[in-house]
Amino acid sequence: MWRLPLPDNSSAIDELVIALTPTRGAPVVELTEDERAAFLALYQLYDALRGEPGAGLEASDISGVTAQAVYDGYDATQIGSRLAHLRTRLQAGILRCPFCGFAPITSLDHHLPRSTYRALAVYARNLIPACSTCNQKKGATVGGQDEHQRFINAYFADLPAERFFVARCVMVDGALVTQFEVVQTPALSEHVFRRLTYQFQRLELNTRLKGEVTDFLVSLETGLESAYETPEAALAVSHFLARSAASQERANGLNHWKTALLHGLAGCIEFCDGGFRLGQISLGA
Ligand SMILES: [Zn+2]
Repeated sequence: MWRLPLPDNSSAIDELVIALTPTRGAPVVELTEDERAAFLALYQLYDALRGEPGAGLEASDISGVTAQAVYDGYDATQIGSRLAHLRTRLQAGILRCPFCGFAPITSLDHHLPRSTYRALAVYARNLIPACSTCNQKKGATVGGQDEHQRFINAYFADLPAERFFVARCVMVDGALVTQFEVVQTPALSEHVFRRLTYQFQRLELNTRLKGEVTDFLVSLETGLESAYETPEAALAVSHFLARSAASQERANGLNHWKTALLHGLAGCIEFCDGGFRLGQISLGA
């Protein structure tokens, strides 16, 4: 969740040429040496800016006709089309959407929107594998607006090795109430903190995670019951949850929602002291 490994970009120009060349027939636009150099410079600038919008990325030295052809060429990344291998390469080994951390990958999101940054439409490092719901909810959020109202770049974001995503868990009238939130930590910059908060809210994750939390609690039921049957009861449940949090952290990362949830539950005395019994639990607002 949040971050993905940076994709290789050594085939960026080859992928661009394929995007511009229909399977049958001549290229829509045949790149001159100068244009190839302009695209290489554009990609290098994107990397240097770590995927942040900046002067130069709108590529005024690349003609409008060429930029439009790249924009259109993105359609060739669809399954069965000539650039489908780019999609396959980017999605390989990524099981869950980096934005929500639970849904399968079904789309590619243009980190800098295709509508504005047409020349970057098929650049691997501007294409983030995502689920279609997150992709849709993000929309074209990088424009000229408030710099804090932008998504982080999943390939380049500078995130600290600290727990900045937490779940507040309380029991209210027998119902577990869970609220996830991004919190400020010593090494998390104010800027990144505000962007993560914006991203989390824009994706409506507190609402969308509810069903996932319910399913996940069901999967824990046997472990919770076994722990609760020991003499230490509530304490044993809390330890079981803390150990499960450590496993999730190794598998999915420090700031995955499951890790956050397990830590939150481990610290909720009422939940650990029998409140977890699912017959009694409904997930509150
Ligand atoms: Zn998602």
